Amino acid sequence: MSLRVNEIFFSIQGESSYAGYPCAFVRLTGCNLRCSYCDTQYAYEEGTWLEISDIERKVTSLNCRLVEITGGEPLIQKETPELIKKLLDQEFTVLLETNGSQDIGVVDERCVRILDIKCPSSGESGNNDLENLGKMTPHDEIKFVILNRKDYEYAKLILTSSILTQNHLKPPFLSPVFGKIDPETLAQWILEDHLDVRLQIQLHKLIWGPERKGV
Ligand code: SF4
Repeated sequence: MSLRVNEIFFSIQGESSYAGYPCAFVRLTGCNLRCSYCDTQYAYEEGTWLEISDIERKVTSLNCRLVEITGGEPLIQKETPELIKKLLDQEFTVLLETNGSQDIGVVDERCVRILDIKCPSSGESGNNDLENLGKMTPHDEIKFVILNRKDYEYAKLILTSSILTQNHLKPPFLSPVFGKIDPETLAQWILEDHLDVRLQIQLHKLIWGPERKGV
């Protein structure tokens, strides 16, 4: 069983409730979406086929118990759930960053599934699989990447969904598109609405700048 891998690296987790922790990243090749602000276009095509056992070995060699599987979109490769299960069985804490268009029900519930719900400015909001909202567990997370007020209003609409309220999820993250909207603007909107969310600035971009790969 093998997966096409763009890069495996060790860095500081820049997003989610795990932001700030050292983390091993497995970036898988390929994505079914083409978001207007995508910062990982290099992962659309480039990659090397690796056996799952080799990926496990490389991750283990990074000497870090926190692992994120990201992309691209990890769930378009059918062996991804198996990789996640293998890492969980070895008692890694596993995060999955997924673009919200794929069924998260195929992923072991021990994994922290981070659902990136696409807003209108991405050009991909029509591809959100909103049935995923009903499959989330209290340790899963949701984020919205916000470019403008229209995105913010869309996020608010999803957040009022009764499915989300029933699942007692952690407060969702609202993340400004880096360099495209002033975080202060988003902060102001959140405060005006007393919204129960967390403002998230991509930490790795603050540390290393927006262009650096492998961080
Ligand atoms: S889902 Fe992620 S990797 Fe795919 S196009 Fe959108 S931002 Fe880029």
